[in-house]
Amino acid sequence: MHEIFDLKNRKRLVLKRGKERVVANRHPWIFAGAIGSESGPAEAAVGDLFDGNGQRLASGFYSPQSEIRLRALTFGEEELSEELIAARIDRAIERRRPMLNATTNAARVINAEGDDLSGLVIDLYNDIAVVEVANAGIERVKSIVLDAIHRQIKPRLVYLSNDLPARRLEELTTEPEAIGEGPPATTIVENGLKFEVDPASGQKTGFFLDQRDNRSLARSLASGKRVLNLFSYTGAFGVYAAAGGATEIENVDGSEVAIEQARRNHDLNGSTANFVVADAFAHVRQLAAANQRYGLVVCDPPAFAKRRVEVERAARGYKDINLYAMRLLEPGAAMLTFSCSGHMSLDLFQKVIFAAALDAGRRISFVRRLTAAPDHPVSIYCPEGEYLKGFLLRLTE
Ligand code: SAH
Repeated sequence: MHEIFDLKNRKRLVLKRGKERVVANRHPWIFAGAIGSESGPAEAAVGDLFDGNGQRLASGFYSPQSEIRLRALTFGEEELSEELIAARIDRAIERRRPMLNATTNAARVINAEGDDLSGLVIDLYNDIAVVEVANAGIERVKSIVLDAIHRQIKPRLVYLSNDLPARRLEELTTEPEAIGEGPPATTIVENGLKFEVDPASGQKTGFFLDQRDNRSLARSLASGKRVLNLFSYTGAFGVYAAAGGATEIENVDGSEVAIEQARRNHDLNGSTANFVVADAFAHVRQLAAANQRYGLVVCDPPAFAKRRVEVERAARGYKDINLYAMRLLEPGAAMLTFSCSGHMSLDLFQKVIFAAALDAGRRISFVRRLTAAPDHPVSIYCPEGEYLKGFLLRLTE
């Protein structure tokens, strides 16, 4: 038994009177403001939350530095133990097995709250498991996580990127760690297409798996089309569009490193494309001024709102890029547009698209709402996990 679960090593928290709703809703984030008193060892990584009558309400990972004081993993009398965590990891990986096959060998196998494992994300890229640990509780039970990975997946390498900003707050190391053999780079196949993944130098965990199904959609829409892929990063949407029979593809990204990566990915799949290192906001203006038109536009920018106070400014950014992208649509064209800002609601994003269409003077229909692929489940109790939202739009003129 891991010593952090010993009752004597746990923090004892008492819920403030009037905050009962917080726990009744089973939201896994219990904020400091909902807690009346704390007692127990200073170095505790696990805490139990009680009501005023000494009834246990929840147990989870305790963080003295974080506003999210307790990340609840169990509610009521359910016992939080090493076995429970190991079983949750096993079940989450089992649920991904049907998604992994000869044509797709990369998937998010653990998605934090969506798999009832707050603070833990694991992406499998062929023979590499990339692990993101966001809090001290998970860090202290890393051996359970590593055991489960070796039991269930047996990757060549486990790579702990240790680069989440939250780790600094929790005073955890930010040095990456590689356990296993060979370099922390590999080639994955996704729906039969090949991509290089380099978790040591890439963004996030190295390759955005959440867009897998939306990339397939792009492939199905690309035949005979001229395609513009804005914020192309690894060029993944462009590679899918090429596989779908696009006549011409333009990948645009502000990062030279990303564009080189996109070029290698197109090469790997025997497809050609144009590559532009440019600020997408300036580039769409140039394309519009030059009367360029496309049959499919993909717009997948980085999260413009990293904090709630930035939402308004972010909305202006999304409107601007979408407005110009809409001006580039040829009659009947399709557009895939996304926001991966957690603070931007679907409702607000839809309003932004409306405002962009209005100002662009284009007739646009919503064809489909888009979200992350099913290996990125969202807990019903923690809707904050649903960060990726998008629309398939159609120019109806
Ligand atoms: N569509 C990609 C993910 C995009 S990530 C995929 O399917 O994997 C966001 C990308 O936007 C990054 O590669 C980043 O370099 C790029 N970027 C950020 N700001 C930019 C800007 N102003 N102009 C062009 N690219 C930008």
